[in-house]
Amino acid sequence: MARRERHGKFCRFCQDKVVKIDYKDEKRLQRFVTEQGKIIPRRVTGTCARHQRQLAVAVKRARQIALLPFVGRHHKHG
Ligand SMILES: [Zn+2]
Repeated sequence: MARRERHGKFCRFCQDKVVKIDYKDEKRLQRFVTEQGKIIPRRVTGTCARHQRQLAVAVKRARQIALLPFVGRHHKHG
């Protein structure tokens, strides 16, 4: 059987063989952040400790440059 995501309880970054999480990859980051801009616990997302740590740094950075849409902030496209 191919290794498929069973209940999403496997680190997606490991699955995608992500070596370093790019803070500019906001589409990916969004999946791991709540609407309030909080990082979703890895128990929920299944992210491994190593990647969760990188994720925290990436989200923090993305937040600083406001790539991620946060509450009260509307981003217009094009
Ligand atoms: Zn991982």
